[in-house]
Amino acid sequence: MISIQRFFKTVQTEKFAYFDNINTTFPDPRVIRKINEVLSSRLGNPSSHIHSAGVAAGRIIDEAREKVSALIGASPENLIFTSGATESNNLAITGFLKANPDFGFITSNIEHFSVLNQVRSLRNDDIDISVLEVDRYGLVDPEMLEKALENNPSIVSLSIANPEIGTMQDIEKISDICHRHGSILHSDTTAAAGLIEIDVDKMGIDLLTLSAHNLYGPAGVGALYVNKNIKLASIFEGGNQESGVRPGTENVPGIAGMGEACDMIKNDLKSHEERLKNLRNNLWKSLEESVRFINFTGHPEKRLPGHVSFWVEHIEGESLLLLLSMNGIMASSGSACSSNLKAKDEDELMASHVLDAVGVPSDICSGSITLSAGRYNTEEDFNYVKSVLPGLVEKLLTMSPSYDDYTKNKETADG
Ligand code: PMP
Repeated sequence: MISIQRFFKTVQTEKFAYFDNINTTFPDPRVIRKINEVLSSRLGNPSSHIHSAGVAAGRIIDEAREKVSALIGASPENLIFTSGATESNNLAITGFLKANPDFGFITSNIEHFSVLNQVRSLRNDDIDISVLEVDRYGLVDPEMLEKALENNPSIVSLSIANPEIGTMQDIEKISDICHRHGSILHSDTTAAAGLIEIDVDKMGIDLLTLSAHNLYGPAGVGALYVNKNIKLASIFEGGNQESGVRPGTENVPGIAGMGEACDMIKNDLKSHEERLKNLRNNLWKSLEESVRFINFTGHPEKRLPGHVSFWVEHIEGESLLLLLSMNGIMASSGSACSSNLKAKDEDELMASHVLDAVGVPSDICSGSITLSAGRYNTEEDFNYVKSVLPGLVEKLLTMSPSYDDYTKNKETADG
């Protein structure tokens, strides 16, 4: 383990290369303007239909509902605003099972905890629950899903893309299987929306989760699309807002910001998708050639544009993350896996359930790195990563006891 003091000897830079878009994006200036405008308007409570200030607030929500729905090819009347993806995921799964108690629940072992932890909370409710294991790329096996659906209809919750390893499922195939078995599909599209085109009808998604802060909108706002044929019960007690499914006074400025963000994204989604795909492929190739002991995670092709994730043998992901940060590159760690590279008495880092699920060996991997670009990342940002990252890995290798052992063993073996 390298001491923090040794890290701080490394030069700090003014560079600002943000590669953590998967965790949050910066609100677009257009979004900020919209939020400011709404906040400074004299708006009433949207439920106060009796006066013009309330009606004006209601109109802003209606307008945003149209814009958010348009991004996913949905009708505005089928969209509910929430406080974010966590709430949408809980409402989708627990709300659906409350209204449809004969259904089972199927998900995968790489879902976000707002999906996966519902397995625990629903366990006592006499619900058939299956957690599917993914393959080494993070893909769900369609045959395994088919088998899990044999017994009874279920709500299947599988995200289009995994934020940590970037893998994208064949969601149309999955929805087809679900529907053939009288089941329904919920998809958490927090990681994918804004990066790839999403169409609820084309993809056959019955319930869909969105989060505004992953879409260049503000944090604390999200949405849940609910197909008109789906019965959903509220999981909250309260008033009649959002068709009574999500009671509580609406976050009007946040909702307006989300609407603006979705409208902006819809205009040029395709061009950013292509651009980020090319930049990703290029970065992948460059790191493959220049970083010793690199192991990529996730699927090499079926993956999010702008997303590259990996771990490096002999070095700790957290250490690399810190060095990257000190060089102005902001990335995320796929929460470190447990490792024998760490001293026993150190603070135990949480193992990543995703890395575990795709079989990353915890005895030689000590944390992964996720570089996730978005619409504001330039080619220059990517080139900067390409030029800096290999050197940082080399620096960490020189400090690594594991690498030291490796070279000594190799020397002995080579005679
Ligand atoms: N799902 C996924 C895939 C996520 O990455 C996150 C975190 N950004 C969430 C759900 C939770 O989102 P929120 O912060 O909007 O509740």
